[in-house]
Amino acid sequence: MFNINQTVKLSQIKDKDFIVKLKTALQQLKFYDGDLDCINDDLLLKAFEKFKGYVHLNSPDLWGPTTQAALERVTSVKFSETNLLPFTYLRNYKNTETIDVVNTNVVKEIQQILKENGYYNGLIDGKNTSIRKSFIKWKTSNNIGLPEYVGPQTIQILLDLAQLKHPTPVDDAKDVYKLGEKLILPDRVVYLQSSINFNGNFTWSEFTKFGTRVPKTQEVVNNIIELATRMEDVRQWLGNRPLQFTSAYRPADVNRAVGGVIDSQHVHGKAVDFTYEGDLNKAYEIINKKWFGGVGDGRARGFIHLDTRPYQARFGY
Ligand SMILES: [Zn+2]
Repeated sequence: MFNINQTVKLSQIKDKDFIVKLKTALQQLKFYDGDLDCINDDLLLKAFEKFKGYVHLNSPDLWGPTTQAALERVTSVKFSETNLLPFTYLRNYKNTETIDVVNTNVVKEIQQILKENGYYNGLIDGKNTSIRKSFIKWKTSNNIGLPEYVGPQTIQILLDLAQLKHPTPVDDAKDVYKLGEKLILPDRVVYLQSSINFNGNFTWSEFTKFGTRVPKTQEVVNNIIELATRMEDVRQWLGNRPLQFTSAYRPADVNRAVGGVIDSQHVHGKAVDFTYEGDLNKAYEIINKKWFGGVGDGRARGFIHLDTRPYQARFGY
């Protein structure tokens, strides 16, 4: 069994928890972009080597206390934490019931996860009444359906959240849920196919180009949520029919690559370009009257640009 305080060659470490943690840490630093699995592979070794170079440490293949301290300084991963709670009760929980009747052990684990992630600041006492309010608030603010209920989807999202603080090998349960791949945002884990707003029409996939444009800051996440909320109105105005986004959030490098203007609202997660299976002229007319913010007239090219800038602006392309 690998002891965290040893100095050993990274390639010899087999401890699964450790590997997932190391991958998580190196991913936070953008040295690693593979899966957060427990396989000690070349991708990990290369990422580790880059990190060692980055912090000017010798022996690119050696793990030891100095390396650990350096990694803990620059990431949120804590290698020194032992006795990781495995969240056994939560993992084995197969019912769907309201938070008021969930058993004590499950409640304790929910309390711990929500507490560690800043959604709860009470005692870990296993009491349904202690967690009720925070639990509902957490579900509501993360747009997870049925806020009072604990069921398979909620459990999975909780375990994903726990994974951020207690990385462990991912189990295969995630495949059960048809919400697509996970998208790890600065403050939460969402699924590509889940709607951004509770009962909303727009998914994270649509706003992140199938998860290829991941917001890195809380500000961008908040802007996307606000924009998605306002796009629900637009959808209503246009007869409650689907809108197809041709472009939404664009990280700065993507924006440059597609030739967007430098301070494009797209870079802040505040803009979408969309097409629509209807009369685009009529759509423009309605939007021009009702939308507060920026409206770009791209009708000649088959789209309308909308953004949530805090003042009126109308322009063409
Ligand atoms: Zn645009």
